Amino acid sequence: MYLNLHSSLAENYNSNSQKIRVLTEDWVHKYIFCPSCGLGVKEYENNKPVADFYCSQCHEDYELKSKNGSMGKKIVDGAYATMIARLQSNNNPNFFFLNYDKNTYDIQNFVVIPKHFFVPEIIEKRKPLSLTAQRAGWTGCNILLETIPESGKIFYVKDHVSQSKDKIIEEWNRTSFLKESKNINSRGWLLEIIRCIEKLDKKQFSLNELYQFEKHLKTKYPENNNIQAKIRQQLQLLRDKDYLKFISLGKYKLK
Ligand SMILES: [Zn+2]
Repeated sequence: MYLNLHSSLAENYNSNSQKIRVLTEDWVHKYIFCPSCGLGVKEYENNKPVADFYCSQCHEDYELKSKNGSMGKKIVDGAYATMIARLQSNNNPNFFFLNYDKNTYDIQNFVVIPKHFFVPEIIEKRKPLSLTAQRAGWTGCNILLETIPESGKIFYVKDHVSQSKDKIIEEWNRTSFLKESKNINSRGWLLEIIRCIEKLDKKQFSLNELYQFEKHLKTKYPENNNIQAKIRQQLQLLRDKDYLKFISLGKYKLK
């Protein structure tokens, strides 16, 4: 994988954003494969409203966003209402995120976020544009990278280093069961528990350790009156999906 965007393709463009668009799309087209099956991704004709790339084998769609400088904590995206509607409708694309150095055009990171990690909790509403703006009242959104579990950020390139294809496909498949969870609230719960497990930062952990998050979960889900039972239920689901193993009473191990 060649980790630089530079190419003569951009010479015909004056606008910097157009230039970057052309260069990043060209790079993705050349080097990026579908994380689900490993086949190269194909580019949609221009102006397809929701996605930029697709896999002809698994019919997965991918939207590409790029940014110069560091990854940061948020990605600026389009209209808030459109985004929320897309999440509910289940036809949202997976998300490719590329960040590069604007002086050298070196690729620093390239990550795919599977669509099933998109729940309303990771979308932040921006302030509406002021009355004097051309699109007064228009409200955009940010994608909050830090609220996405680590297992939902699958790196192709991490800090200038390309990752192995096998590892990328394995990481993708590890959480693809989340796709089956069509109800956005139940998926939100699973993602929340995955994030709590990641916070423990251990390969093996106990139920009591997870109960430490009871207060935190209660503030997120105030209508739930039995958080501990909910935690146990989610752990069972994660075991059924082969995300973790039960090793003995109240003891778990990540696969
Ligand atoms: Zn595929």
